[in-house]
Amino acid sequence: MKYLPFTKYSFSGSPVACPICGNSKRTQISRYDRRFKILPQSKCDECALVRHEFMLSDEQLSQYYSTSYRSDYQWVNSAPTSRHIEKRVSEAKTRLNNLNPYLKKNPKILDFGCGSGEFIELAQKKGALATGFEPGDLYAAYARDQKRLDVQNCGWENYDQKKKVDVVTAFHVFEHLIDPLKAFQKSISWLNKNGLIYIEVPNMAKGLKLKGFGSLHMAHTIGFGRYSLELLGAYCGMKTIEVFDEFDIGMIFTKGIPRPLEEIKKNSIDEFANINFKQVNKQFWLYSTRKLFGKRYKNSFIVQ
Ligand SMILES: [Zn+2]
Repeated sequence: MKYLPFTKYSFSGSPVACPICGNSKRTQISRYDRRFKILPQSKCDECALVRHEFMLSDEQLSQYYSTSYRSDYQWVNSAPTSRHIEKRVSEAKTRLNNLNPYLKKNPKILDFGCGSGEFIELAQKKGALATGFEPGDLYAAYARDQKRLDVQNCGWENYDQKKKVDVVTAFHVFEHLIDPLKAFQKSISWLNKNGLIYIEVPNMAKGLKLKGFGSLHMAHTIGFGRYSLELLGAYCGMKTIEVFDEFDIGMIFTKGIPRPLEEIKKNSIDEFANINFKQVNKQFWLYSTRKLFGKRYKNSFIVQ
């Protein structure tokens, strides 16, 4: 497919209510994505979750993944490269260390959207009984056939669970979903009593403050901040027990009474308070210019 900037994607989509809080009021924060394609994005007026203004349907999204995703993101065009694997192994170590204090002996772990399986492999080495599922054919095949891991090639809707697990992990998965609430609830259904859910997503609040619309792209249907991620769990009756707030945002949830929804929404609105159309546009150019001229860019966000 030929890439043309300043044009629309061939997928149209339609406006939807916020997939977490259900409010339909939204404020546009950008007209473009990082490839200069027209991809209007807005934030929810009630909880600040970022979403595509015209959300694709399940069918359109799978069509996008099977036709354009690979050309948009070269790294999924083939089986995983050694560079890709190296990076994933290092991330897997950090994530397993984060989770470690909460793990009992020989825990059962299910990795939701496990990619090429590095997290599963590492967890197995440390004594866990780790399994996973992955919708991408090549990555699932690699994990299953090359690494001999227990990985199903499917999406969350079709995952066939055999045994309940102690932990569901989902790394850089939820920002790709259309219905995060349903996927989160489904994840809860896979858990043992007192089970945990560990989710990591890009922090959209930080991304927008640093790169402006350079942090937006087609494959990310929704964008979380620290508090909209907490809100997702709270809507499903899960409370946050640990937060890893680096450039990405990681969170461990357990069953329990979350903070009041209104309080979390207010925190989220505050987190995105200065993120508006003008700033997102301005920050893109500021960031790109600095990058172009090779200046070292430190964490000097426009929004303090
Ligand atoms: Zn919302």
